[in-house]
Amino acid sequence: MVRAALTGPELTGFATPEPAASVRLLLPSTGTSDLVVPEWNGNEFLLPDGKRPIIRTFTPRRFDPDVLELDVDIVLHEGGAASAWAQAAEPGDPVAVSGPGRGYRIDPAARSFFLAGDETAMPAIGQLLEEIDAAASVGVIIEVGDPAARLDLPAHPGAQIEWVQRAADGLPGTALVEAVASATIEPGTKVWVAGEAGSLVAIRRHLFDEFGLGRADVTVRGYWKHGR
Ligand SMILES: Cc1cc2nc3c(=O)[nH]c(=O)nc-3n(C[C@H](O)[C@H](O)[C@H](O)COP(=O)(O)OP(=O)(O)OC[C@H]3O[C@@H](n4cnc5c(N)ncnc54)[C@H](O)[C@@H]3O)c2cc1C
Repeated sequence: MVRAALTGPELTGFATPEPAASVRLLLPSTGTSDLVVPEWNGNEFLLPDGKRPIIRTFTPRRFDPDVLELDVDIVLHEGGAASAWAQAAEPGDPVAVSGPGRGYRIDPAARSFFLAGDETAMPAIGQLLEEIDAAASVGVIIEVGDPAARLDLPAHPGAQIEWVQRAADGLPGTALVEAVASATIEPGTKVWVAGEAGSLVAIRRHLFDEFGLGRADVTVRGYWKHGR
């Protein structure tokens, strides 16, 4: 995980009213360092040369309005344009931000939460732990590919955090599916899960069919798709 601190006068007025929101980053095309802003052709954003721009979605992890600094935490992985950019980025490199997109509304009356995800969900889970009422209980399960990827999450007095390890030859999300299936989630618990989209199909099914949770209590978000 690499934290990119983005700054510039254009961030004046930026706000993230809800945790687990999103921003879209426009990055320079591979092999260039210039940022070319694409145009909307009525169907999609395209660069003047007809190519597709590199636009990826991240969690606005922290925004400091006093110094206009927006942090995004970017997971490093094989073969990703944003991952490669984050690894090579130098102070002063240009990037464009759009957003924020809607986040998650924490029910202030809820007393029980369950949060789960992979590395890409850690920034959002960190924000949720910061904002969920201290009197609530919060079960958290996070799948990581490498024990070194475990971050110190914000302290929450009611949180129980379980880390699960992805098998080296396993599909992403498999360990998370198993861990969620063996968790105890009482009806009425507010559930938020994000990560690899394929694995979330099984998780969603389990939450509704096995745990009998209500649709209004469950938020499941595909953050990326294996192989795409
Ligand atoms: C609302 C929202 C919030 C998000 N917040 C964050 C965040 O805070 N931090 C973060 O890192 N990501 C976050 N993501 C996920 C991120 O947008 C994707 O992981 C994105 O695909 C990364 O772009 P990339 O250019 O590195 O890889 P891509 O070019 O999109 O993908 C290239 C290849 O890498 C694979 N891939 C993509 N992501 C991963 C991964 N994490 N691990 C392993 N393989 C991967 C793809 O399947 C594909 O085969 C969020 C997504 C959403 C929708």
